[in-house]
Amino acid sequence: MLFDKRKITVIPGDGIGPEVVSAALKVVEASGVDIEPEISLAGAGAFEKGIESGVPDETIESIERTKVVLKGPLETPIGHGNKSANVTLRTLFETFGNLRPVRELPGVHTPFTGRNLDIVIVRENVEDLYTGIEYMQTPGVAQALKVISRTGCEKIIELAFEFAVAAGRKRVHCATKANIMKLTEGMLQHTFEEIAPRYSQIEAKHILIDNCAHQLAMRPEQFDVIVTTNMNGDILSDLTSGLTGGLGFAPSANIGNDVAIFEAVHGSAPDIAGKNVANPTALILSAAMMLRHIGEGEAANDIEQAVLVTLESGVRSGDMAGTAKPSSTTEFANAIISNLGKESRTSGARDFRALQMPESSTDVQAVETKKRRVTGVDVFLESTMQPDDLAADLNEICSGTTVALQMIGNRGNTVYPVDEGARRVTLVDQYRCRFMKKTRGDALTNAEILALLTRIGEAHIWHHVEKLQQFDGEDAFSRTQKK
Ligand code: NAD
Repeated sequence: MLFDKRKITVIPGDGIGPEVVSAALKVVEASGVDIEPEISLAGAGAFEKGIESGVPDETIESIERTKVVLKGPLETPIGHGNKSANVTLRTLFETFGNLRPVRELPGVHTPFTGRNLDIVIVRENVEDLYTGIEYMQTPGVAQALKVISRTGCEKIIELAFEFAVAAGRKRVHCATKANIMKLTEGMLQHTFEEIAPRYSQIEAKHILIDNCAHQLAMRPEQFDVIVTTNMNGDILSDLTSGLTGGLGFAPSANIGNDVAIFEAVHGSAPDIAGKNVANPTALILSAAMMLRHIGEGEAANDIEQAVLVTLESGVRSGDMAGTAKPSSTTEFANAIISNLGKESRTSGARDFRALQMPESSTDVQAVETKKRRVTGVDVFLESTMQPDDLAADLNEICSGTTVALQMIGNRGNTVYPVDEGARRVTLVDQYRCRFMKKTRGDALTNAEILALLTRIGEAHIWHHVEKLQQFDGEDAFSRTQKK
């Protein structure tokens, strides 16, 4: 049918969720856009019904139909297992990019007021340490896997540049810790440097994440768009929310291959739930981002302008510093509705083009190499022996095999061989033992690795094995650190 209403999935969520979502829906409806909300359950209510993922099938079906979600915050209730409904949604719909814009708002006083901050964090949302792949390797040593893929890097870098183009932005910083994590964080930096020339109209700069945090506190006005890995983005985006007035004003969009989820950055705020005092701005600005996404840019601009006019007129929410008589959630939303169609004195409407999404594919993604070979193997084992004694034991185990012990590491430090008089490090009962093929240039076979593991396993507890590979002649593993 030609004049069907645009269906969107609406998840009221937990705590203050239903209050701020209903305020946002009222504003969207008043903006004149004909939407048909499919009100759907997720979060605490779903856990109480015994739905382990926190997201019922009907909600998933609704999202598959509508492709667009306006979502309130969801709690992860204690005592209902460890699942998070947010993680379920993020994983199910692979919302790989998290856009978190913040800007100076009139009347929202912060130490940075007057510096016209206008920053968007583009956070990779599905990879990195947040894949949640963790192991206790010994009773006292835990390990998490930081997974970064070339495909994931390409998608988030392209999204950042495409967003910059669509939003008329001038500069994209890529913030990484590539100086330490050369292969994982370094992959984002290299991908950024390869893709940046395709967007010659945008200034592209790499910055180390620690300096980025420092610069955000000292001279935040230099930043426009910042693209970064998942955990860095999680931390930086809360920092930028703080620079501009706090969580009550911070909207976000979770962009997937074919589904987008719009939500406030804040959580369910149980301390103020049900009191009609929550600030609905973050959810209302998220709804404006949603409208822009579905091609209703004019209504999005109208809502953003009405929010600015409302703040300029002196209406205040309870979370604004120094507020004597704050408006309730409903009063605040009604004030925004009454200001629809008015223009802000402080900032004009923004010009956005449609966002070109990075390509996605259901094929397995792989980077091709012409030559590859395994040159050695790292065996992680549990032991309370001193490094020299362990080395003597492992050298004995290797005699008569095709491999030689090259080094032993402990928490990233080389502890064998070490120069005489080298400083001692605190040792834990997890050792990384590196074995290389004795005949340089020869490839190490699976059979040789299995034979080595069998021999080591007779005397020690090994728990993790990593092949040392070369791709096109380049070592595909980190060098060891000498102290
Ligand atoms: P929170 O964001 O809910 O609250 C932090 C503080 O900010 C509280 O003092 C709260 O009152 C205040 N606050 C938050 N939003 C506000 C608003 N709109 N207006 C006025 N004040 C506001 O963070 P939390 O307390 O750490 O988390 C509470 C619950 O929310 C947890 O179960 C957590 O897992 C969940 N959570 C969900 C999401 C999400 O669904 N995306 C995000 C963060 C936290």
